[in-house]
Amino acid sequence: MESRTEISSLGEFGLIQRINKGVTNTQPDTVTGIGDDAAVMDIGEEYGLLTTDLLLEGVHFDLTFFPLKHLGYKSIAASVSDIAAMNGYPRQVTVNIAISNRFSVEAIDEFYAGVRTACKDFSVDLVGGDTSSSRSGLLISVSVFGKVKKDKVVYRNTAKPNDLLCVTGDLGGAYLGLQLLEREKQVFLTNPDMQPELEGKDYVIQRQLRPEARMDVIYELEEAGVTPTSMIDVSDGLASDLLHICAQSGVGAVVFEERLPIDEQTYLAATELNLSPITAALNGGEDYELLFTVSQADYEKIKNNPKITFVGYIADKSEGVSLHTKGDSRVPMTAQGWT
Ligand code: ADP
Ligand code: MG
Repeated sequence: MESRTEISSLGEFGLIQRINKGVTNTQPDTVTGIGDDAAVMDIGEEYGLLTTDLLLEGVHFDLTFFPLKHLGYKSIAASVSDIAAMNGYPRQVTVNIAISNRFSVEAIDEFYAGVRTACKDFSVDLVGGDTSSSRSGLLISVSVFGKVKKDKVVYRNTAKPNDLLCVTGDLGGAYLGLQLLEREKQVFLTNPDMQPELEGKDYVIQRQLRPEARMDVIYELEEAGVTPTSMIDVSDGLASDLLHICAQSGVGAVVFEERLPIDEQTYLAATELNLSPITAALNGGEDYELLFTVSQADYEKIKNNPKITFVGYIADKSEGVSLHTKGDSRVPMTAQGWT
């Protein structure tokens, strides 16, 4: 009998590694293939960047509380974020959709209104796509092409011991926004007359429904004359994404719990839902902030940027990747990403 291995035994990253093992690049202009936030191609004077993402109804979004306009925006922002993570600039996007007859023309108009707003915000052109019918809900796939100067591209595998570890914005909000929306959905399903209790929670809800790609920080780093030594976008949670940087760079890291940037509303929502704001910040995901490292020599140039928090440092591989808690102990950082 042929052997059968469950995908759950490998997990997402194990599966990608397995696919990668069977791939050999042969084109002279392929600079970097599988393994970073975007592929890198030599297109002449600059490098071209290419990234693609898939979003499925019921897996990545729930249309009972996700407005189509926001979904259109988020689909673009999430992929632009991968171009930002290469220190690049997005240029063109393609959008594929598969729709069932459950959707009206007006609903698709709403989705594309969001797509257009994001294209404007991130200065990209929608240059193509594909349209199909679907038998099971809405499917969205976005690819973004971007560019970066050859000496400015930033990978995941180039962090060095003693580099400073930085993160933009704040963490855990998108996860708590989702938990609140899920809770309101359950309340509504039980009693449709109940009014949603989302007052004072606009920030975390917005973090879930309408995330931004941090292109603003990419421009500011360039202005400050700082090129990170490594970078990734925080799509799966700081822990999981830091572990990618560390594994691929062959280094360890220390993150200080007290340094984690967490918004007031994230704390409040976590308290209300009996969840740990620290766990949300470390493992929540979908914040689309940038996690990057800089050499100590660059500290002065960005230390006053309010969008950037110094959360720790890169250590030798032998030190592992750990969280330095408020109680002064060190606990190993573990990923709780997608399985
Ligand atoms: P991100 O979260 O930044 O989008 P992923 O974790 O989805 O990154 O992917 C990590 C790397 O693996 C990327 O280089 C991506 O292109 C590649 N990858 C993911 N799925 C596949 C696949 N099915 N075939 C080939 N490469 C893949
Ligand atoms: Mg990414």
